[in-house]
Amino acid sequence: MTEQNNQNNQVQLKNYNRRTVLNYIRKNGTATKAGLASVTGLTFMAIKKILAELEELNLVRNDQMETTGVGRKAVSYAINENYRYSIGIHINKFVTGVVLMNLQGQVIARENYSMDKEFSGQNEFVDMLIRAVNLVIESSGIGRDKILGIGVGAPGPIDYENGIILTPPNMPILNYLPLREILEENTGFPVFISKDTNVIAFGEYWCGEAKDCNTLVYVDVDMGIGSGLIIDGKLNIGANGVAGEFGHITVDINGPLCNCGNKGCLEAVSSGIAVLKTLSRQLDKEEKHPLYHKRNELVIEDVFEMAKKKDMLTMSILNQSAFYMGVAVSSLINILDPEIVVMGGILIQRYPMYFDIVKDVADQRKVKGAKENRMLISSLKESAGVIGAGEIVADNFFNKRVNDVFMKN
Ligand SMILES: [Zn+2]
Repeated sequence: MTEQNNQNNQVQLKNYNRRTVLNYIRKNGTATKAGLASVTGLTFMAIKKILAELEELNLVRNDQMETTGVGRKAVSYAINENYRYSIGIHINKFVTGVVLMNLQGQVIARENYSMDKEFSGQNEFVDMLIRAVNLVIESSGIGRDKILGIGVGAPGPIDYENGIILTPPNMPILNYLPLREILEENTGFPVFISKDTNVIAFGEYWCGEAKDCNTLVYVDVDMGIGSGLIIDGKLNIGANGVAGEFGHITVDINGPLCNCGNKGCLEAVSSGIAVLKTLSRQLDKEEKHPLYHKRNELVIEDVFEMAKKKDMLTMSILNQSAFYMGVAVSSLINILDPEIVVMGGILIQRYPMYFDIVKDVADQRKVKGAKENRMLISSLKESAGVIGAGEIVADNFFNKRVNDVFMKN
C-alpha cells in the first residue's frame, strides 16, 4: 500500500466516524459523549475529539445538561439546526405545500396552494412552484447561500434517474413533467424528487412519533392507496422505483376491477375512490337514503358526514374497507416485520374507527413475534410530506455533501 493510499483510507475512516456521530445525534435529537461512545464502539477520547471538530465546524452545538444515572450532569450535543436549511415541496391532489425548514425539521416559512383551481397547463403549475420557492426564501429572511436544495414529493410513478414524474393516475397535469431539470434551472438549487408516500414515510421517520425506530412502514389510506418503506434508516424505492405499491396487491382474486387493469387490488376495495363507488352503487336500491339523489355525484366529504351521523350503510362500507386494509397490513407486517407501521390519509384521519379495525384485524392475522409491531396514526398529518421532502435534502447533506465541509478541518 502506498503512503498516499494509506492517508486516503485514514481520511475516509475519519469522515465515516464523523458521519456516524452526526447521524446518531440527528436521529436522537441529542446525545452525550458516553452515549455516543457506547453506540458507536469508539473510545470516549475519540468521541470527544470528533465532537470538538464538529463543534468547530458549527455542525453541532452544545445542548443543555442531561442528568445521568447517579444525579451527575453530562453535556449533551445537538445538530446546529441553523447551519443550513432545506426546501420541501409536497405535490398533492388537494393541497400543494412548500416549506423552508432548518436541519431539525422545524418549519420556518410555509406556502400552501389549494389545487381546486384549473391550471391552464404544466407551465402555470410549474410557475406556481417556482414562485412559492422564492416566497418562502424571502419571508424566511434566510440567504440563498444557506439553502442546501429542494426536495419534492410527487405522485408516482417517478423516473428517479432522470427526475421525471411519469403518469400519476390522479393528477394527469403532471404527465411526463421533467420537474427536476426545470426546478434546477429556475432556482439554481439541487433538486431531489421522490414518490409522495416515500417522503411522507421519511417525514414520519425523522420527525414523527416514530423517531426511535430504524424500520418503518407508512401506509397511506387516501383516495388512492400507497406506502413508503424505510429499512434500516434508508428509503427503499426498489429496483425500478416502484417499491411500496401497496395499493396493487391482490386481496380478492374475483374482486372489482382496479384502474391498473387487475382485479381485486386493495385500492379497488379499500381506497376513498372505491368507497365512493360502492356507496353510489348501493344507493341505487335505497330510495329513502338522504344521499339517494346525490348518488352519482358523491364526494368523500359526504361519506364522512353520513358516518358521523351513524348512517349504517356508509359505516358498513367504511368498515368493510378497513377490514380488507387490515388483512393487507397483516401481510405487510409478515413480510417486513417493521418496528412501526404509521397510518395516515383521509380515511384514517376522518373516520376514527378505521384505524381500530385495521389494527384489530392485522393483530389477529399476523405471525406473532417476540415483540409487538407498533401501529400508530400519523401525528404529523399533512405536514409529514413537506417535512419529509426537506429531510431528503438534509439526508443527502449528512451522508454525502458533509464530506466537503470536513475537508475544511
Ligand atoms: Zn391495481
